Amino acid sequence: MEKEINESLQGSTLVLDKKDGNSRKLYIESYGCQMNFSDSEIVASILSKEGFDTTTNLEDADLVLVNTCSIREKAETTVRKRLEKFNAVKKGRPHMKVGVLGCMAERLKSKFLEEEKIVDMVVGPDAYKDLPNLIAEIDEGRNAVNVILSKEETYGDVAPVRLNTNGVTAFVSITRGCDNMCTFCVVPFTRGRERSRDPQSILKEVNELWDQGFKEITLLGQNVDSYLWYGGGLKKDFDRATEMQKATAVNFARLLQLVAEAQPRMRIRFSTSNPQDMTMDVIETMANYKNICNYIHLPVQSGSNRILKAMNRQHTREEYFTMIDNIRELIPDCAISMDMITGFPTETEEDHQDTLSLMEYVKYDFGFMFAYSERPGTMAARKLEDDIPEAVKKRRLQEVIELQQKHSHYRTRQHLGKTEEVLIEGDSRKSSEHWMGRNSQNTVVVFPKESYKVGDFVNVKIEDCTSATLLGTAVGYAS
Ligand code: SAM
Repeated sequence: MEKEINESLQGSTLVLDKKDGNSRKLYIESYGCQMNFSDSEIVASILSKEGFDTTTNLEDADLVLVNTCSIREKAETTVRKRLEKFNAVKKGRPHMKVGVLGCMAERLKSKFLEEEKIVDMVVGPDAYKDLPNLIAEIDEGRNAVNVILSKEETYGDVAPVRLNTNGVTAFVSITRGCDNMCTFCVVPFTRGRERSRDPQSILKEVNELWDQGFKEITLLGQNVDSYLWYGGGLKKDFDRATEMQKATAVNFARLLQLVAEAQPRMRIRFSTSNPQDMTMDVIETMANYKNICNYIHLPVQSGSNRILKAMNRQHTREEYFTMIDNIRELIPDCAISMDMITGFPTETEEDHQDTLSLMEYVKYDFGFMFAYSERPGTMAARKLEDDIPEAVKKRRLQEVIELQQKHSHYRTRQHLGKTEEVLIEGDSRKSSEHWMGRNSQNTVVVFPKESYKVGDFVNVKIEDCTSATLLGTAVGYAS
């Protein structure tokens, strides 16, 4: 299951091949959503041209960077604990510099330098191209900060180096920032306003990935369906574009089509979709192209109309059901997943029951479920009291998780007896005798290796399942 926040990746360090002439050592640790891991690849690419090789050994590092997440309080607490560890290492290695990147850097800005005395550098998500200058500053013993959010930056011209890659699947960033202003969410404040990347640079990256042997890409953004390229600039300024810019603009459905046609043998996925921005032409495009996978991550956050409104989600429960019905009509075997928040301010038992009944209607394949965490500066923090006791938030979360597990199992059982195309990604976690791959719906499939290899598309007969995994036997190469 593809996780927005992949627990097994949290805090992982990134390693690059050594480059001749590089003498300094960079240790880079990443937390949070896939966008952050993707950004760390951009940072590594920029710094490898500045004389840095990567290391996984903190004690060897000349520069330690931590790419941070602010989405929930727990994510920030984890990073603060890591900074204590870096501090201990720095005591025996005084020349070592520490930099904080990403959402926490943006949220706390120079306050970070005061609060966390060991931090030398604070860099927001739009300022990575300034890293060479900022590192020159800290090399001379001064603290350095750049947290300016940009109207244009998409890093479209930086070829990311692929870190910790399986050589088969890769993420391609297509938008940055978010304009949705959900009242619980810190993202618009930490990642700025929404802007889209030039489709030509996206196609170039996708073609290069294919040439390097990658077989599947995920187009990535906080809100991919809102993608709109009209020559650069913020999405909110589209109204002021010229007639020519408007006439030649590329929306998400068109981008999907361009990518699917550019590499017809490559699997295409995308994440995340916000229900209010997903349109019928996206669903139709998915239905029209075999290489676009039948999987949509469609966060809903709550099943109650009152709470959806308080969250500033721009749709009702009924409109969401219509979207689900449309998806199921055009793509009957499409997997759908969600994000859900329990215990948003003022949430009653009745609202919670609405969430459970919405889940019963959709019967999601997968779910990412969270207890509400108040984030400073958001509209909810400013206007609403965080009034649901922690124990109630947790109990509702547990009920949501249990129902989701039941639905996940219901969904995996639907695959039994079918023969499905699976792209092999690597060894199964539990056995080196078995491959692990995914079907079009993004469900993990495990089967005996035989003579197949990583990167092969294989037809697998599904014989058994758990709530998260399909088990089967390969019956030959997929066409
Ligand atoms: N852009 C997507 C959307 O809004 O539909 C997802 C963005 S966010 C990076 C990933 C998920 O974290 C959200 O969908 C939400 O479920 C969860 N999340 C965001 N803010 C939260 C908060 N304050 N407390 C708990 N969960 C939160």
